[in-house]
Amino acid sequence: MDKQFYNQEEGLSRSEIEALQLERLHSTVEHCMGSAFYRKRFADSNVSVSDFKTLDDLRKIPFTTKQDLRDTYPFGMASVPLDRCVRLHSSSGTTGNPTVILHTARDLDQWANAVARCLWMVGCRPEDVFQNTSGYGMFTGGLGFQYGAERLGMLTVPAAAGNTLRQLKFFTDFGTTVVHAIPSYAARIFEVMQEKGIDPRRDTSLRTLVIGAEPHSEDTRRRIEDMLGVKAYNSFGMSEMCGPGVAFECKEQNGLHIWEDYYIVEIIDPDTLEPVPDGQVGELVLTTINREAMPLLRYRTRDLTRILPGKCPCGREHLRLDRMKGRSDDMIILKGVNIFPIQIETILMQFEELASDYLIILETLEDNDYMTVKVEIKDIPVDDYAKLKALEKEITRQLKDEILITPRVRLVPKDSLPKSEGKAVRVKDLRKQY
Ligand code: ADP
Ligand code: ZN
Repeated sequence: MDKQFYNQEEGLSRSEIEALQLERLHSTVEHCMGSAFYRKRFADSNVSVSDFKTLDDLRKIPFTTKQDLRDTYPFGMASVPLDRCVRLHSSSGTTGNPTVILHTARDLDQWANAVARCLWMVGCRPEDVFQNTSGYGMFTGGLGFQYGAERLGMLTVPAAAGNTLRQLKFFTDFGTTVVHAIPSYAARIFEVMQEKGIDPRRDTSLRTLVIGAEPHSEDTRRRIEDMLGVKAYNSFGMSEMCGPGVAFECKEQNGLHIWEDYYIVEIIDPDTLEPVPDGQVGELVLTTINREAMPLLRYRTRDLTRILPGKCPCGREHLRLDRMKGRSDDMIILKGVNIFPIQIETILMQFEELASDYLIILETLEDNDYMTVKVEIKDIPVDDYAKLKALEKEITRQLKDEILITPRVRLVPKDSLPKSEGKAVRVKDLRKQY
């Protein structure tokens, strides 16, 4: 019979997880003394390696931030000599110095295991054909999934990003059963299938979709599942924690198991920096405890989520994170109200008439700030003016109930909004800066 868990650590009980975490925290803290950055951090905050007796002692360590990664660019945070590293991934650096994450051969090996574990959990097996539509190169969704899928033993198709017609040809020619795609691209794939008269249920063997890298709502997932006739699982990761393979939904599709043999999880209030009570939303803070080249202690991810209470029926005891609400820096502040794009998406995707693409535009008119939500419609004839107006009105009403501000809703024809190759751009802020 098929094994239930990909490896032994996946099936650990809570007490076993915590014992392993404490052991790995000790060795990680010791190992971090190889890093000039952490030596100084520890000295500055009067913490020493011998202070770590329980997992709670983690809180003695100051947070590590993205700014720290930028300040130590490129290699200042490494805990091992550079000649032991075999790869680096670097972020684009559009908003400041880029950041670098270094990996030893062991790090890459452990990363591949984590991704393989995630894929195994949702039913992928060596007989599957896995097609990856991520960009390769520095974007970790490319190589991260590649090595994980190979580790599991699937036939992998490194199709990379874009060229949807070629992706469709690969689906049919190679018998692809599993696809990794960002949610906005999954919707695009379906549109092109429709244009070409391809029925995913009849003409392909697609069964499983792995969607991640950007926030998306439950309704978006259901839509993708209905369109493509697949099960779609939420995959969460970030370059600073290697990439994909950090947290992943199991078949229950109710929360993402975060692999606690790799990470210690904290959820904090981003303002007070204190832990939030169990089950409340806050900023996810992660400590890597299974990394050699560049461990990060108490890294502030800026992602907002909460820990789901209770045990998962699947039997795994690794904590479950709720679907990400967004990043603290994605939050829109309009007329003093805090709004997350995902709140808007959640409302929009409940309207059958709407397609998947939308754009939130913030602008200043006569010294007042406004929000316009442009959203593509599916099938209503664009010339049925009364129907369009009634729909716009209903969407506006529901959005106002959710975000407490009245946006201007504009229904636009399908394919009229700009498409991006990578992660979808959902917000355009054209407001006057005072
Ligand atoms: P960048 O930092 O350039 O966006 P990354 O690939 O490292 O590149 O992106 C990681 C970020 O992407 C996460 O911190 C999170 O904000 C977002 N992200 C990744 N996976 C998900 C997911 N499943 N749901 C929501 N957001 C996600
Ligand atoms: Zn589960």
